[in-house]
Amino acid sequence: MDNKQINKQLCSSLNDLKKQNLLRSIPDIDHGADLYLDFKGKRLLNLASNNYLGLSQTEVLKKAACEATKHWGTSAAASRLVTGNFSLYCELEDAVARFKTQEKALVIGSGYMANLCLVTSLTQRKTIIFSDRLNHASIIDGIILSRAKHIRYRHNDIEHLHYLLKKHASSTQKILITDTIFSMDGDLARLEEIVSLAKKFNVIIVVDEAHATGVFGKGRGLAHALGLEKEIDIHMGTFSKALGSYGAYLAGAKEWIDWITTTGRPFIYSTALPPGVIGANLAAIDLVSQNPKQGQKLLDMGKYLRTELDRLGFDLGDSGSQIIPVILGDIETTLKAKEFLLTKGLYVAAIRPPTVPQNTSRLRLSLRIDLKKEHLQQIVRSFEELKKQL
Ligand SMILES: *Cc1c(COP(=O)(O)O)cnc(C)c1O
Repeated sequence: MDNKQINKQLCSSLNDLKKQNLLRSIPDIDHGADLYLDFKGKRLLNLASNNYLGLSQTEVLKKAACEATKHWGTSAAASRLVTGNFSLYCELEDAVARFKTQEKALVIGSGYMANLCLVTSLTQRKTIIFSDRLNHASIIDGIILSRAKHIRYRHNDIEHLHYLLKKHASSTQKILITDTIFSMDGDLARLEEIVSLAKKFNVIIVVDEAHATGVFGKGRGLAHALGLEKEIDIHMGTFSKALGSYGAYLAGAKEWIDWITTTGRPFIYSTALPPGVIGANLAAIDLVSQNPKQGQKLLDMGKYLRTELDRLGFDLGDSGSQIIPVILGDIETTLKAKEFLLTKGLYVAAIRPPTVPQNTSRLRLSLRIDLKKEHLQQIVRSFEELKKQL
């Protein structure tokens, strides 16, 4: 095919997506991490960001980022393994290891990269990976890149997992990986049952705590909240959501972390995070350690709002966290609902396939600690009116 033909084909594919309301484009948003964001000349309550604790705007984090930048400059300018290291990086990794009560931690460029890194580093072609069907895209991409055998179990379905573990019991290299809080549903992995099954079948356990970090278990994650932190082989979490900054970490036994450091290609072949980011990350870990109750306050807010939305008759799935899906079904209804809420001063995310399964399009509310009582009332009132429109 020549360039002209490819161009024509892309044009037609883009048009098809547009007709199905599936075209993605970057929204015209400013101040998208703040409590109020600017969108098309309007100031709207931000219910779509992952800045759950509002940390990105705290003086402590901003100051830490500025000071690290002043001292070390704006770039690490090389991979960690070449010259990209600086002392603050090591300080952060020690702090993460203590925070997660693990032997050692490794900080990686982003959550997406961390998942690619850990999955490709811990597996060979003959490894079998058991993965929840609703795991984050970065886990799925990591598995594809690893070329290991990918066994998906039905979402949070312990019986299905048990069946599959039995079926592959004779295999010697097995890994199980799950989100602890599922990003589009806000529900919790059934971690106690998953861990006990994995132990029984001699499977390595990896958890992705991206949405649980800063919120569950005094900010340490769901594994800590359930007292399972010593049962998990690798803990992954990010600085990019509740911790108000950027990047991710892996934590676990020294040998695991050393192995990933020496074999994890996304870690080896990418420039280390800039000093400003590392400074903010360290400040965020300190702040959460010193304010362990913030996460629970956010979860209580989630519980309150779920009760109210449930009373209005909305389908909220199995949400048990600060992420509340309002499942409306078809794409058009969901986009219209989003537009309606814009007129009420609320910015919520509309989530469509392929991010979620067909016919489960939804609005996704992510709550934040800086929401006041009157904001919650505004949300409930607006959804009450939305219900009448549907
Ligand atoms: C957001 C997210 C990631 C990716 O993290 P980034 O730091 O944004 O790259 C990975 N896993 C889960 C479950 C996530 O929600």
